[in-house]
Amino acid sequence: MFTTVHANNVFDVLGRFIHMGIDTYSFISALNCIAAQRLVRILCPLCRQPAVLGKADLVYNRVDKSFFSQPIYRAVGCEECAGLGYSGRTAIGEILELTDEVKEMILAKKPTSEIKKVAMEQGMVPIRRNGLARVKAGVTSIEELNRVTVKEWV
Ligand SMILES: [Zn+2]
Repeated sequence: MFTTVHANNVFDVLGRFIHMGIDTYSFISALNCIAAQRLVRILCPLCRQPAVLGKADLVYNRVDKSFFSQPIYRAVGCEECAGLGYSGRTAIGEILELTDEVKEMILAKKPTSEIKKVAMEQGMVPIRRNGLARVKAGVTSIEELNRVTVKEWV
């Protein structure tokens, strides 16, 4: 049983194992789900400042229109957080449930993009989307989320 694998996201985990030369069929059959998580820094509640994203910021930060005029917070820095603007960390994550349909697609070596599409139709919430909800809630900043989900899309 594998409990911890270092990979960027749930799809990288699959690729990692398949490239290790493990018998793919047995491996996939035995799996129920794959979870990935990353840590983001929590905004210091004492000095965080409200920020409003303009239209150009939406493109730059790869976020949808729901972020336009949505007050989020940015890091500033104060004595309490040693000027960092952040205090503590929290995890964001994603879980890929290996349904029969997903397993068949993996075994058929379908492209990750196609598997991801089906997984999302079946309810998977990608790590970046989970992170964006934390940004909206003021837990972390968009800059911090961008730092840890640099190559993800939603
Ligand atoms: Zn502070």
